Formats: sequence, structure tokens, C-alpha cells
Amino acid sequence: MAILVTGGAGYIGSHTVMYLREQNEEVVVLDNLTKGHEQAVVDVPFYKGDLTDGKVIDQIFEDHSIDSVIHFAASSLVGESVTNPLEYYRNNVAGSHALVSKLVEHGVKHIVFSSTAATYGNPERTPIEESDVTAPTNPYGETKLAIEKMLRWCDDAYGLKSVSLRYFNAAGADPEGRIGEDHDPESHLIPIVLQAALGQREQVSIFGDDYDTKDGTCVRDYIHVLDLAQAHYLALKKMKETNESGVYNLGNGKGFTVKEVIETCRSVTGKTIEAEVAPRRAGDPATLIASSSKAINELGWNPVYPELSQIVAHAWSWHQNNPKGYGDNE
Ligand code: UDP
Repeated sequence: MAILVTGGAGYIGSHTVMYLREQNEEVVVLDNLTKGHEQAVVDVPFYKGDLTDGKVIDQIFEDHSIDSVIHFAASSLVGESVTNPLEYYRNNVAGSHALVSKLVEHGVKHIVFSSTAATYGNPERTPIEESDVTAPTNPYGETKLAIEKMLRWCDDAYGLKSVSLRYFNAAGADPEGRIGEDHDPESHLIPIVLQAALGQREQVSIFGDDYDTKDGTCVRDYIHVLDLAQAHYLALKKMKETNESGVYNLGNGKGFTVKEVIETCRSVTGKTIEAEVAPRRAGDPATLIASSSKAINELGWNPVYPELSQIVAHAWSWHQNNPKGYGDNE
């Protein structure tokens, strides 16, 4: 039986596909390549198509015995979601609705869904637990929460079991350097700082230094992309064993300010990285730190790369060897 991975050519998706293959799982990837890179999908059947393309999805079910799905495909930028909410509702909500309708039609019973810490909004306490209030401050978080809720109702109605994984800040790259992070344009903090270290940008803009945090810059919880991959594998395995739906946070339980991230990048790369304070970015909560005790206790999740310096070192190695990202191989 095979796992269908939507968005498997994207950053977190491609690392998860690689991890699943290393566990000898059979995997099929669906990706429309608007953000993903075909070169990131190594050694697995690949279908180019949208979540709304029922014909491609029917074809995948005809060609393979799919019994479960890991659903990554989505638009995922906080700032962009604030300026273009309709696109986020179209791609994320309508796209997931079309996909899940097809999964129900084909009798799929297990889905792992790529959710986000942005579902919590400005949390009432830190670290955040899964039972805490969800009140997103941007359309990205809103659309992910809407899909989580849709999946919960689909469990009741059709017996489609789902696990929603709320990631905090995915970072790092395959330690062996086969794949890594390549967004165009890049908007995530660590790759932006590393681009500055490579001399590809003059400086890093720090989006706001007047937040209520220890140095005034936003605090985030950075988690290695391969540790996220491991959690997807464990969540799917556990859901198949117990036939129970659930929600899990995935983070390190430690927060770093934007300034601390830049400092870590300076020390890992040995480069002087220029940084300047700029206005706040719309939709950004001040602090997001996960409690991941539930994933650790219930899924047996065991993050292998918890240190920020290690996460940055793996990302740095990818960026040094692939200064143009996957564009180097095109
Ligand atoms: N950030 C920043 N400068 C940048 C990019 C990001 O100061 O060029 C900040 C951003 O405001 C947030 C943190 O870094 O507080 C992490 O942002 P990122 O986009 O990487 O992830 P997000 O938390 O939005 O998922």
C-alpha cells in the first residue's frame, strides 16, 4: 500500500518523502510545482497537478494502491495571506475540500494534515498546548484551522481519521545535503539570513523591535525539518494502529528571538551579517513556543536535531553548496 503525499515537492514535503522512503514506505507525490521543485522528488512516482484536478487524482488511485494521505500542498506565508486572503481561501480551503472529497470517494480512511502554530494567534500562555484557544491573527492560520475543523467533521460523517500536525518554525535541511529549502521569493528568516551570509543580499531586515519580548524582536520555536518528517511517519503509523484522530504540536519547546537567530547564523557561518530594524510585518504574533509533550508521549516522537546551531549548520551547508537553490541543477 502506498502513501499519497500532496505538496511532496515542497520544502517540508520533500524531506518527509525522503524520510518515508528511508523507512521503506511506498510513496506517490502530487504537486502542481507552483512552489515545489521536481528535483526535490527523488525516486518516487510523481504526478503534476492541482488538488482540484480530480482527473489526476483518479489516475493516481488507478495506478497505485493508496491507503493513506499526507497533505502538505498549501500556500503558507503569513504576510502574503494578509494582503491576499482570497487566494489563501481558494488554494488552502477550496483545494483541501476538493482533495478530501476525492479521498472520501476513493474510500481513504487516514490523512495526516499539515497545520500550523498560526492557528493559535496570540497565545494566552507559553508554551502552547494543543487544548489552548485557537484564534488566528492572519488568513493563513484561519484557513488551516478551517481545514482542521472540516477534517474533524469528516471523521464523524465518513470515518476519515485525521491527525493535524501544528508546526512551529520548520528550518534546516537534509544533513547529507541531498535536498534543502528553496523558496522564490524567500521570506523565511533563517534562509534570508544565510543569503545575506552568502552575499546575496546586503542586509537582513528585522521586522519590529518593539514587541513585548526580551530584546523586542519576535520569538519563534525552530524545529528541524527532518524531525518534522519523523513526526509525520509516527503520526500516520499510530493513527493506523489506533484508528484515532488527533492534533499535535511540533516544536522544540525553546524560543529564539530574531536577533538571537541572526547571532547564531553569524557564529555558524563566521560571516558579518548586516541587520537593520524595519517596521513590523502584518499578522505576526510576538511569541510562539510549542509544548510538544503530547507528540513526545503519545507518538514516541524523538527529535534528533534540537539545537538551533545544528539546524542552522545543515541549512548553511545546503545554501553554500546550492547558492541558487534547485536552480543550480535546472
Ligand atoms: N523575520 C524578520 N525578517 C525577515 C524574515 C522574518 O524579522 O526577513 C521575522 C518574522 O517577522 C518572524 C520571524 O522572523 O517574527 C520568523 O519568520 P518566518 O517568516 O521565518 O516564519 P513565521 O514565523 O512567519 O512562520
